[in-house]
Formats: sequence, structure tokens, C-alpha cells
Amino acid sequence: MREKDHIDYAHELDIVLKPDAAVPLIGKEYGHFSGPGIPLFSIGGGFLRQALQQILVGFHARRGYYIAETPILASSELFRLSGHMDFYRENMYVFNIEDREFTVKPMNCPYHLLIFMSHLARFRSRVKLPFKIFEVGRVHRYEPSGSLYGLLRVRGFTQDDAHIITPESETASVIAGVFEEMKSLLELVFRLPMDEGNVRIRLSVSDRSQVGTHFMGTLEEWEAAERALEDIAKRIAEKYNVKVNVGVGEAAFYGPKIDLMMSLRGSSGVKEWQMGTIQFDFNLPRRFKVYDYVKEILGDMKVFVIHRALLGSLERFLGGYLEHYKGRLPFSLAPLQIAVLSIRAGEEADAEVEKVSAELKWALLQRGLRVAVKESSRTGLSGDVRFLESTLKPPVIVYVGPKEVKESTLTVSVYDHASGKRRNLSVRYGSDPAEGLMAVVEEQEREVKEASGIAPRIPADLTHMV
Ligand code: ZN
Repeated sequence: MREKDHIDYAHELDIVLKPDAAVPLIGKEYGHFSGPGIPLFSIGGGFLRQALQQILVGFHARRGYYIAETPILASSELFRLSGHMDFYRENMYVFNIEDREFTVKPMNCPYHLLIFMSHLARFRSRVKLPFKIFEVGRVHRYEPSGSLYGLLRVRGFTQDDAHIITPESETASVIAGVFEEMKSLLELVFRLPMDEGNVRIRLSVSDRSQVGTHFMGTLEEWEAAERALEDIAKRIAEKYNVKVNVGVGEAAFYGPKIDLMMSLRGSSGVKEWQMGTIQFDFNLPRRFKVYDYVKEILGDMKVFVIHRALLGSLERFLGGYLEHYKGRLPFSLAPLQIAVLSIRAGEEADAEVEKVSAELKWALLQRGLRVAVKESSRTGLSGDVRFLESTLKPPVIVYVGPKEVKESTLTVSVYDHASGKRRNLSVRYGSDPAEGLMAVVEEQEREVKEASGIAPRIPADLTHMV
């Protein structure tokens, strides 16, 4: 049997639209995407994306980042000023309207720099460095159609993107802090522990022969930046006991970078994925006259811009993650969080089972949870569980049957990412049918809450999907 890949899992969870399903007039060529390489998120994907966005915003806000929201469309002038139109034009969508040239943003950086500069102009010396600005930002970049693949290589994607304007003297501690953030996010929100020899650091530097053509800036600037970043990468590697490899010619056009590479299980064996990235930039601050403004307002110091994303492209990360955990999303991100199996046995207790199941659903919806009730029977039960496990894969399955209502208990089955197994437990209920179950829910949400300060609650009744 063919192993499933991430697109299969994404379909099961209703994250992206299914190809050729129920939209006969639109046809197969558009499939699960709204155009080549442009994923269209479906109902399950909508909940997942919103929950992830809230977690990311909370995660960054409590670590001192300001939150931005910048437009998809920009006048080309902004991206000319930033250097993108000269060094990145082949990846950009550019077009004319009313004799003006516009571009769909390929990166968020120029906007974040604009925000920093206007903030500095307005609040002057009250602005403190490092200044950190974060956005869940959607960008579009041209990729040749032959290279597009599922969620892994797309033309429209979303970055958990931030820019940090930092004095040169604090650069090393800022970058070490970002690395620690990466580790916390992967471990607490996604249950991807980093301590099993499964990660390495890739240091991407310029090809010196192409500085000035492919890489913006002077040879001296590149040499100095690469020396500094190499030193930082080595110190991080030592602290976390991971390897560093160097990729020549793989730097961004504006500066060298370090990427976190992580091994994940996939349909074709273990594969290495690029997760977060930390990029060093001495070009953008010069082009936006950040040096001059900072000097005038904050005093004589040299500053750098650090571009960083902890997950990189959310779409690509999700694709790798779905394969690694076979479509099992953590509780806070799962489209369907709790499935209630309402087990009828053809007995007097059936009416009570139905009543408790309905009240439980209502009580969970009131608390902001995504829930579905599936009618089942003693003989159909294992088939119904199999159906849930092969479709929406709810992290929590609750059994309500004659035995349970007689004892005022619920049998609860909870999926554990570490062991890849479910464990069963029994919780009591009283006048509030969700009372005992909420302790299980809160335990599921605990680490996300620890990381981001919130466990997102976006309620939905998904009964029609089970
Ligand atoms: Zn950037």
C-alpha cells in the first residue's frame, strides 16, 4: 500500500480543498488549490490557521514583539527602495494599474522597516532597542510551475515573520534569544523535541564571486557579517550540542543567515526540513537610512536588522508536520478537538445517552471547543472509531453509553504524541456534563498556554463531518 503524504492527511483533516470532490463545474485542474501553487484552506484549515495565528501572536507578544499587519499589495517604489526590484525581481509579481507599477509583496521586511522609522520619528528617544516587530504575513513569490509540490513548494504562503532592529553590541544575545524561542515553540506548541540529535544548523554564506551582482553590498561588509554570524552559530551549536554546516552561495541577497534543519519522518523515510531562519542584514538599514536616524535620535551606534521566522513558511511546516505525525495535530490546532460517540444499545438508557451527549456537546461549544457527536452502537463502535481515526483524527474521543450514564461517568480516550497511542480514562460528571472532561481539556492546552499565554478557543459544531 502506498504511504500517505501530507496532502492526503490535509484532505482527511479538511485543511485544504479536496481535488475533484463535489465541485464538478470547476474541474480537476484547479484541484485543492485556487491556482497553481496557491493553496486554498478549507473548513478544517480555517480553524487550524486561526488558532495557530492566535498562538503565534500571543507567543511573540509576551516575548516583547510588537504585532503588525501589513498589506499584500504595495507600490513598487517601496520595493525599489528596499532593493528587491533590483535583486529579487524574478521572484515577484509586478503589474501596472493607472500607469503606476505595483507589486504583490514577496517579503514583509520593507513594511516593518517603515513602521520602525515612523515610530522613531514620532516617539523619538522613547523608542528602545532592540525593537522587535512580528507579523503572521502572507507573501507571494514566483516559483516555476514544474517545481510546485503540494504544500511544500507553493507560490503563496504565510510566514511567522519578525524583524529586530538591534545595536551591533546586542546582536549575539538577540540571535541566541531567537534560537531559544524556536526551541520553545517547537517543543511546547508542536511537541517536536529538539534534543535527540535530530537537528543541525546550516550557515548560509555568499558566493564571494557574486557579491555586487547576486548579493547586495560590498565584499568587506559580507566578510565582516559572515565572520560575526559564524561565530554566533558556533556558540549556539555548542550550547545545544548540534552540528553546523556551511552552504556557500545560499545566503539571502541582503545578508548571510542561519537555518535550523530538523529531521522529520515522512512517507519516504526520514527527511531533513528547514524550520526557522535567522538572517543578518546590513543592507536594508542603509537603504532606509536607519543608520542616520538612529544616530540622530538614539545616539552614535551601529544597528543591524535581523530577519527571522521560527517555523518559516507555515504551509511547508504544516506539510512536514502532517507527515511526521501522520495527520495528528495537537489539541489546540486540531480542526475537530473532541468527538462524542453516543452509543445506543436498544435499552431504556438510550434516551439518557442521547440527552447526555447533546448536553455535553452544548456545554463544550459554550466553552469554545470544536466538537461533533456521532451516533454509534455496540456493534458499530469499532468501525466508528476507525472512521474518526482515518478522517478528522480528534485528539479526544468521548464515549457515552448505557454503562457511562448509569455511573455518571464519561470514558475519555486521549491521543498522546510522544507514544503515538491513546490512553483511556474515566471522568465523572454532575449537573454540568463537561465538568470532569474540562480537566482533560486543560491538560491538553497547558503547554500551549505556557508558551503563548493563551489556549485559543474557537467553537464549532462539526457533527455533519463525522
Ligand atoms: Zn525580512
